[in-house]
Amino acid sequence: NTPVITIDGPTASGKGTVASRVAQQLGWHVLDSGALYRLTALACEQNMIDSDEESAVAQQAQALDVHFSAGRSYLNQVDVTDALRQEHIGLLASKIAAYPAVREALLARQRAFQTGKGLVADGRDMGTVVFPNAPLKIFLVADVQSRAQRRYKQLIDKGISANLSDLLVDLQARDLRDTNRAVAPLKPAQDAYILDSSSLSIDETVNQVLQYWAN
Ligand code: C5P
Repeated sequence: NTPVITIDGPTASGKGTVASRVAQQLGWHVLDSGALYRLTALACEQNMIDSDEESAVAQQAQALDVHFSAGRSYLNQVDVTDALRQEHIGLLASKIAAYPAVREALLARQRAFQTGKGLVADGRDMGTVVFPNAPLKIFLVADVQSRAQRRYKQLIDKGISANLSDLLVDLQARDLRDTNRAVAPLKPAQDAYILDSSSLSIDETVNQVLQYWAN
């Protein structure tokens, strides 16, 4: 029975970086569940699927030809890692993530990552829905200003142009939708540790998670 550490939290709370660093330290696999929602969004865009049509979108999610390798994401054997990070894809992902049929279609795919020595799973509902029996659950938060700053820096570092106040508005819109949706809303599992990373470095955050695991 492969152990799972779940790391959930709002957009740009640093979950992705923390999850992959924790996985690296432990020699475990990592699941970036947001990438599956983004891949579904990108597939819909490419195939000109109307994002208002729940069943058509769910069909895309079901049929997704994806794989992950060395930190890169592939859709139909094409490396789409950078395309996935676009802000409009993030927003579209959060729209289609509110559809129960889409979440259902991605469930088994996510659970299939639970193999080998261990798994660090990053998302919104890892601790509440996908891996409810995980022995360690983290809910990572940070104030919206620091999250917008981080997202801004990430984009600029990648040579993608960005506007801080636009990002702030996007983050808030996405958080609001993720929190208020009827299925798998963004909320900490009852047995999750709430970790506020606003004033912590990545190293400090990673160490805190590893400390929880060691205890
Ligand atoms: O984490 P990331 O920003 O890549 O996720 C994109 C969107 O996918 C989120 O805003 C959220 O709506 C959705 N998502 C989700 N459940 C997850 C992971 C992501 O609903 N486990």
